Amino acid sequence: MSYDVEKPDEQWRAELSPAEYAVLRQAGTEPAFTGEYTDSKTKGVYSCRACGAELFTSTEKFESHCGWPSFYDPKDSAAVELIADRSHGMVRTEVRCARCGSHLGHVFEGEGYPTPTDQRYCINSVSLRLEADES
Ligand SMILES: [Zn+2]
Repeated sequence: MSYDVEKPDEQWRAELSPAEYAVLRQAGTEPAFTGEYTDSKTKGVYSCRACGAELFTSTEKFESHCGWPSFYDPKDSAAVELIADRSHGMVRTEVRCARCGSHLGHVFEGEGYPTPTDQRYCINSVSLRLEADES
């Protein structure tokens, strides 16, 4: 798999904070209810903290009470890459940034949330950077 943005591991490590690196480049998960965007209702666009690609918007963000920012759809389906993840004895769908391949979180479906897609993109705050709309 090749991505439009590819950097040697040392460079990612230098550019990202340790917490960002652990999630984005090592597929870690930030602790629930700790991320800065978990309950954010600010209107704007959420971009990849590693490469700046626009991934999600506040329009698709919803309150899932799961402890991480949750979206029912990406801004553009081509912006994210979905990969089967069989780690930790579970079958889940990993969500990565399609431009740089960085880990964002997982997507779950069929949970019964009252959203148009019945999907929950469960995304780490530390993977995102919110660009608030100008008002
Ligand atoms: Zn990216």
